[in-house]
Amino acid sequence: MAIVNTVTGPRETTELGQTLMHEHLFVLTPEINRDFPEISWRGDKADRMAQTVEKLKAAKERGIDTIVDLTVLGMDRYIPNIQRVLSEVNMNVIVATGIYTYDHLPHFFELHAPAKPGDRDILTEIFVSDITKGIGDSGAKAAILKCCTDKAGVTPNIDRILRAVARAHRETGVPISTHSDPNLENGLDQQRVFASEGVDLTRVVIGHSGDTSNLDYLRRVMDQGSTIGCDRFGLYRENFITMNQRIDTIVQLCAEGYADRIVLSHDSICHLDWMPEAAPNAMPDWVLTHVSDKILPALLAKGVTPAQVEQLMVSNPARMFAQQGSY
Ligand SMILES: [Zn+2]
Repeated sequence: MAIVNTVTGPRETTELGQTLMHEHLFVLTPEINRDFPEISWRGDKADRMAQTVEKLKAAKERGIDTIVDLTVLGMDRYIPNIQRVLSEVNMNVIVATGIYTYDHLPHFFELHAPAKPGDRDILTEIFVSDITKGIGDSGAKAAILKCCTDKAGVTPNIDRILRAVARAHRETGVPISTHSDPNLENGLDQQRVFASEGVDLTRVVIGHSGDTSNLDYLRRVMDQGSTIGCDRFGLYRENFITMNQRIDTIVQLCAEGYADRIVLSHDSICHLDWMPEAAPNAMPDWVLTHVSDKILPALLAKGVTPAQVEQLMVSNPARMFAQQGSY
């Protein structure tokens, strides 16, 4: 039996149930939140916390038992806020370590670069500590690693981060989940760096893969063993593919036998300060209930079987956390 750490304690991976693999409870800007909290929280923090409790309760009512919160350094990850919410709602929340950047590294990390090749990176040090000792004095341990590759590609900073994540993964055995830009096919670049660090690519979720309908690219990522995250349901941006294109892509891949390598999510954020309030409000489907309410019924109507839905929502996430151990 494999055990995974959640914010409220260890769980058997077989108990995780329906799992959303890429979400966020709170994403804020640390120095704005610290000194201008009324801006970060848009008024009263207690109101935002209460709204977050309601959002989690709504997901729980749909049958979601576990949420993977991929909020990491650079997004004001703060576990006590999550613990406060979870005192009012029964939900497993798995938290992450890693760093959210498309290239820029804070001077702290630039100037703490390894002195020579082979030296242990302070990034690896921090990631491993979050996983093995816990995050701050919260008592909660991270159970997944997160890193990004966006339009800038694998710059020297991103290469360093991917390798630090790969080493923390091999040392701790927790899975890796990425942010990628599938339109630039850079999930393949991430796989290349991970493989060069000896990472078993079946332990990796290549995130945001659902932002493309390029089946050839998606098959190439999955044929190397990784799972793809179709994880932005409800998030709309100019030049994003439509919900129906996202659904049809999954339908086709399930028909081809790839249902064991796909996970679903929204990349929703219960409260964020990055954009004016009108922006998230203009995306009413960008919430924790959209996959349950609209996407799963649409997949079933188009021929995805209930057993395949169970793979997407339950057994694939559980498998990612059940593969454990350093290597
Ligand atoms: Zn995200």
